[in-house]
Amino acid sequence: MTTKEYTKILREHGIRPSVQRIAVYDYLWKHRTHPTAEEIFTALAPSIATLSRTTIYNTLRLFTEKGAAQMITIEEKEMRFDVLTEIHGHFKCSHCGSIRDFTLGGDSIQKYLPENARGEAFQVYVHGTCADCAAKGK
Ligand SMILES: [Zn+2]
Ligand SMILES: [Zn+2]
Repeated sequence: MTTKEYTKILREHGIRPSVQRIAVYDYLWKHRTHPTAEEIFTALAPSIATLSRTTIYNTLRLFTEKGAAQMITIEEKEMRFDVLTEIHGHFKCSHCGSIRDFTLGGDSIQKYLPENARGEAFQVYVHGTCADCAAKGK
């Protein structure tokens, strides 16, 4: 995606696009690894001299509030960020720590909820062994 497209999406979410915000959004789209704020800061700081950790945290909080990204907390005390905001599950490999998305229809979860309950936020985490680690005999 181009800067122009990012700008449009951010505006649609009611976010005023700034150089820093576009850079963070771009990073999230290009790194679908569910990075932490610290990882994003470390990656972007060398190219944006004015960038601070506070800016990164504030930007990520804004994205989450406005629905442009979601915060996932697979491990306690470790906030990770994801631009994929539609319902999906997360698979975390216990060996290499990689976190991958998997498709999960909201409708399919809905049918397991208590009768007449309406699910509004879904966080589905599965821990296990990823294909790469399984191939290495883990
Ligand atoms: Zn693995
Ligand atoms: Zn995800």
